[in-house]
Amino acid sequence: MTQFNWTCPHCSRRQIATEANRHADLNYLYLTPLDLGDVGVKLVAYSCLNNNCKKLTLYAYLHEWINRAGPGQNKFGDQIREWRLLPESSAIPQPDCIPRPLVADYYEACRIRDLSPKASATLARRCLQGMIRDFCGIAKGTLDAEIKELRTKIDSGQAPAGVTHESAEAIDQVRSIGNIGAHMERDINLIVEVDPGEAQALIELIEMLFEEWYVARHNRRHRLAKIAAIAADKKAKIAEGKAELTKNAAREPTRE
Ligand SMILES: [Zn+2]
Repeated sequence: MTQFNWTCPHCSRRQIATEANRHADLNYLYLTPLDLGDVGVKLVAYSCLNNNCKKLTLYAYLHEWINRAGPGQNKFGDQIREWRLLPESSAIPQPDCIPRPLVADYYEACRIRDLSPKASATLARRCLQGMIRDFCGIAKGTLDAEIKELRTKIDSGQAPAGVTHESAEAIDQVRSIGNIGAHMERDINLIVEVDPGEAQALIELIEMLFEEWYVARHNRRHRLAKIAAIAADKKAKIAEGKAELTKNAAREPTRE
C-alpha cells in the first residue's frame, strides 16, 4: 500500500497512513438484480497513532462493480455514495476554552449539515449569536441588531481584543449568502430553506471565530500568565539575593 499523509478527524494530529493503521475491505454484494446494477461495498478504517487518541475512523462507500468476467477481473467502478461512520461529522475538535453550549451547537450543526441543512444553519446561527453575546457582551434581541452594535463597539475601540472589522465583515458576508442573509435579520429560530453549501459557510465562520476570538484570547492569557510567573520568580530571586547580602554584611566583622 502506498503511504500518504492523513489527519485524524478526532484529534487533528497529522500522521502517515500505512498498512499498520489503515485497513480497506472490498466486497461484492451477491444479490438478486438491483436497479443500481452490480454494486460493491468498500469499508475503510483508520486507527489513530496518537497515544492520547487511538480512536477509530470509519468510512463506507457504495461502488459500481464492473468487469466480473473472471478471477481477478472484478474492480470497483464509480462511487455511488459515501458515508462517514466514525466520527459522525467533519466537526473539528474544539478546545476547553470555548463554552460547552456553543461547542455543542457547533458539533450538532456539523452532524446534520447534509441531512438537514436548514436545521444545521439554524443551530449555526444560534451558535454565532451565542458567541456575540458571550464573547462581546452584546445582547439586543435580534442578531441583526447585535451585529450593528458590534460594529459600533469596534469603531469606538470598545470591542474585546481579537474582535476586528474583519470578523464583522465575515459575519456580514455570510449574511449576504442566499436565504441566510434574508432571514438572519429576523428571529434566529426561524427555519428557512438553506442548502448544504450555505450551512457549511456558517460552520466555517464559526470555526474561524472560535479560533480568532476564544483560542487567541486563551493563548494570550496563557502567555501573559507565563510572563507574570517569570517576572514574579525573578523578583523573588532578587529579594532572596538581597536578603542574603544583608545577612552576609551583618556577619562580616567591622573593620576599624
Ligand atoms: Zn486521533
